Amino acid sequence: MSDTLRDRLYRDLQQRALFLRAQAHAFDYADHIDARAVYPTPAALAALAHFDEPLPAVGGDGLELLDQLHREGAPASVAQTGGRYFGYVNGGVLPAAAAARWMADFWDQNAALHATSPINAKLEQVCQRWLIELLGLAPETVAGFVSGSSLATFCGLAAARYRLYQRMGWDVNRRGLYGAKPLRLIVGREAHGTVMKAIAMLGFGTDQIEWVETDDQGRMRVDRLPALDDRSILVLQAGNVCSGAFDDCASLCARAREAGCWTHIDGAFGLWVAACGELRHLVAGLELADSCSLDGHKTLNTPYAIGIALSRDSEALCAALHTSGSYIHYSGARDGMLYTPEMSRSARAVPLWAALKYLGRAGVDELVATLHQRALQFATALAASGFEVLNDVVFNQVLIACDGDARTEKVLHTLQQSGVCWAGSAHWRGRFVIRVSVCSWMTTEADVARSARAFAEAYGAHA
Ligand SMILES: *Cc1c(COP(=O)(O)O)cnc(C)c1O
Repeated sequence: MSDTLRDRLYRDLQQRALFLRAQAHAFDYADHIDARAVYPTPAALAALAHFDEPLPAVGGDGLELLDQLHREGAPASVAQTGGRYFGYVNGGVLPAAAAARWMADFWDQNAALHATSPINAKLEQVCQRWLIELLGLAPETVAGFVSGSSLATFCGLAAARYRLYQRMGWDVNRRGLYGAKPLRLIVGREAHGTVMKAIAMLGFGTDQIEWVETDDQGRMRVDRLPALDDRSILVLQAGNVCSGAFDDCASLCARAREAGCWTHIDGAFGLWVAACGELRHLVAGLELADSCSLDGHKTLNTPYAIGIALSRDSEALCAALHTSGSYIHYSGARDGMLYTPEMSRSARAVPLWAALKYLGRAGVDELVATLHQRALQFATALAASGFEVLNDVVFNQVLIACDGDARTEKVLHTLQQSGVCWAGSAHWRGRFVIRVSVCSWMTTEADVARSARAFAEAYGAHA
């Protein structure tokens, strides 16, 4: 008489109503993205209290929960898939990549091994090959597909730690850091917080960092680089999270190589300029680095959570992340977990492959170049309405301020309440600043013009 759980689940799958409802809600969300407040309204945030309900004693209705998500959840989402979200460095989402993931969700693959998902393993191989070609990386580069650059940087520095100790005859996997000769960590003052996190997680301790002074754009000063040696790890940045500035990879990587030092480039969003004819000069020398971190979910506009750990030293990466120093034998099959700290993983290669195949070389070039154009447009418009533009807009980031931190803070608050667009803040060289990141394919010239007007109005409101 009463259904078993299995009966209910099977009926859900067969009848498809859940999926059709989810699809209808998703399309409704996309259709209205432009009309809604970019940041949730106070009413939408207050309605989140409806989720504070007791755990149901018995299960509820699938359609009803989807309706609740659409009714009370969607309005409290940040409209970053629209054209006027400029916070953090978030990126929108390419339809083909979202659709491919949607489809692959039905496959529910575990990407750990070739044995658990031959299709994901194949697409990881293809993405690795395409990325080498697209970004002009050294041909021996391998890629680990992780959740984001936080983890990709961790992977790169773990590979560095393994390799430098291995050269000293010290197997760090077995012996750890107790009693080991210290390695040197050479990091720019403007490094991203995730670099320091990786250094802490790897047991080096952030007190060990030898900081290198940066210039007014946040670039490592080449003339302040300490002498490097074969127990040093140099961490560079391709794309400062505030200014978008790029370290001089060509000079710094060349010096590091000469000294036998390992170089890691944190290129979370910036490394994609390598695929853009007009901007590639910003990362000249990138192929000399030993490892890099890169995100799909920022500049490339894939869905979350797609990060990529790249290294020319396949053995070090695999040894650091997988087996305890034993030699890795390659078969014809790719086992993705060898290149990441994770074991069970989602099939991230599917949406990444879809993004790269959809865009092709020309599409990535145009996407990156357009983000740059829009950022330049923004900077010009903001300067014209009285803001001080603090950075050279080399890529997609614009840093602005008013005369005095107090005014900047008030202007930003007004702007964030406007619902027209959203930008965040930072402290830059002793000042409170507004950070504008143009990171979505969706952003048009008209979006920038409209947003710049909202900035100008906010500026005028706090004269
Ligand atoms: C976003 C970012 C990170 C962290 O990447 P996640 O994908 O969020 O883990 C690291 N470095 C830079 C420069 C970034 O912009």
